[in-house]
Amino acid sequence: MKRILVTGGAGFIGSHLCDRLIKEGNDVICLDNYFTGNKRNIEHLISHPYFELVRHDVIQPYFAEVDQIYNLACPASPVHYQYNPIKTTKTSVMGAINMLGLAKRIKARVLQASTSEIYGDPEIHPQTEDYWGNVNPIGIRSCYDEGKRCAETLFMDYHKQNQVDIKIMRIFNTYGPNMHPNDGRVVSNFIMQALKDKDITIYGDGSQSRSFQYVDDLIEGAIRMMNSPSDFIGPVNIGNPNEFTILELAQKVIELTESKSKIIHKELPMDDPMQRQPDISLAKEKLNNWEPKIQLEEGLIKTIQYFSDLIKQQA
Ligand code: NAD
Ligand code: UDP
Repeated sequence: MKRILVTGGAGFIGSHLCDRLIKEGNDVICLDNYFTGNKRNIEHLISHPYFELVRHDVIQPYFAEVDQIYNLACPASPVHYQYNPIKTTKTSVMGAINMLGLAKRIKARVLQASTSEIYGDPEIHPQTEDYWGNVNPIGIRSCYDEGKRCAETLFMDYHKQNQVDIKIMRIFNTYGPNMHPNDGRVVSNFIMQALKDKDITIYGDGSQSRSFQYVDDLIEGAIRMMNSPSDFIGPVNIGNPNEFTILELAQKVIELTESKSKIIHKELPMDDPMQRQPDISLAKEKLNNWEPKIQLEEGLIKTIQYFSDLIKQQA
């Protein structure tokens, strides 16, 4: 049994990670300030003897004796991270400093949830880990992109300067149950709109692409990364290389929900990346042949079921 700290543990990805770590017999501390996370996501774990829930903001130092730290705390959807951009950068940068400081002090291993956003609007396709990215430092996405880039820098420097045992994974667009229904991300938006027979809002002409990863595949990748040999620190891409246009996603969601929704087009937000697809060769090589197992249709069916149940509960 390991003692494991999960920051952002009440969020979408964090809650799945807490579930899996508890299932595997670990002692888990879930830390969250509930900005975008929700107690409902981890409600079923609260009475578990090896699960502890702490309300805390990662921009403040935190102390606990643990073996591993997964640093996930940070709003991830553009609507949420742009709500208070200064706070978003603080969360990434000061959160990283606080978790790295803790890891250094207690000699824990610490994994950073970085993002494909560090590649910005990429000029190479698919993206490999050695690509430095094409990021606007002063745009509306910069608080998130540059915050995460700085966090990666801090992770590398704590490793080089203080020998902190680090791991960096770059997560590509991930979806699944426990996503916030109003977080504005494309999968949750389209499914909620389709289930309510409302217009499906495509930003721009829908030719921009994303590669969508089901959350269970990400969790498997994250756990393998955390437990990989200490000489492999990353960064490593964790994503599903199957790429879809946003128009294709909209059509798939309408088909699977048998919705009467029609597609409408809205303005494309500033700095919206045109394409994104991970090269996952490094993850396959270093993480015991890790690769995504759940493809889009199967993952969407599970996610549609989740949102459909949620709408019934809310009613
Ligand atoms: P989410 O918004 O559901 O989860 C983030 C969690 O962090 C929430 O529970 C929120 O309340 C908490 N949080 C935010 N600021 C905090 C703070 N200052 N102190 C403590 N807790 C705080 O988002 P998610 O999709 O689960 O993302 C989790 C992590 O994975 C994030 O770091 C995100 O950048 C990264 N990521 C996610 C995706 C994706 O597609 N979902 C892609 C790339 C990277
Ligand atoms: N998008 C869209 N309609 C929506 C929400 C998002 O067309 O209702 C588009 C968005 O402009 C982007 C893509 O879908 O091109 C993915 O957006 P999301 O916010 O999910 O993720 P990110 O842009 O961070 O990859």
